[in-house]
Amino acid sequence: MSEWVVDARGGVCHQCDSEYQRLAQHWSRSKRCSYRDVSDAQHEAIRGCLVGDGNLSNPNDGPPALRISSMRRPHLTWVRDQLGWIVRGITRDDTGAYRLRTLSHPALGRYWTWMDSPPSDWTLTKPIARIWYACDGGLEWPGSSTQPRATWTITDDGKRQACEQALAEQGYEVMVWDRRWHCHSRRTSGFCSGLETRRRAVHTSGRWNAKSTSGGVRKCRPGMVA
Ligand SMILES: [Zn+2]
Repeated sequence: MSEWVVDARGGVCHQCDSEYQRLAQHWSRSKRCSYRDVSDAQHEAIRGCLVGDGNLSNPNDGPPALRISSMRRPHLTWVRDQLGWIVRGITRDDTGAYRLRTLSHPALGRYWTWMDSPPSDWTLTKPIARIWYACDGGLEWPGSSTQPRATWTITDDGKRQACEQALAEQGYEVMVWDRRWHCHSRRTSGFCSGLETRRRAVHTSGRWNAKSTSGGVRKCRPGMVA
């Protein structure tokens, strides 16, 4: 099934210098070694993936792994860079989709509830917003406007509600209809410049070219972002 694997299995553990076949298994079984700590920055990236397209699973009843898929390899390699060492690799299946999978890690266990929606006390931080926007967001130019606005499509009601509230708390007025949101044009540049890597995030979004256009809305193409 997998056509291409970024990382090779097996190696030497940086923590204890032992050879391993599977790193997560080494950490779970070794008496002298244990799971490497997940940094705060990695936790932010994990949350961003879960607000975006990511899912958790533990098919072998062990600690969960995070999975995220996309039709575009650059999007996933960008996400991989945000997640760091916890990524096990990226594969491509016979449908042409790329799939990123992390190592199984107990630190991911706290995020099971995020599969429904983020908890009520979460904060939409910049790192979370960057990944979320890269997964679900885009820019569009309404009508004849020269000002783009940020847009998202979120089909899950609970997740959409949580994200709407988080944006409102940061002063972003969001217009919602159907299952699409729009950040007002005059606030979009502020929002996007806050993301810092918006060009890369935007241009590598797997859904960038897949979204349909509707009445008076012109989709941005790579290269159009000012
Ligand atoms: Zn080790």
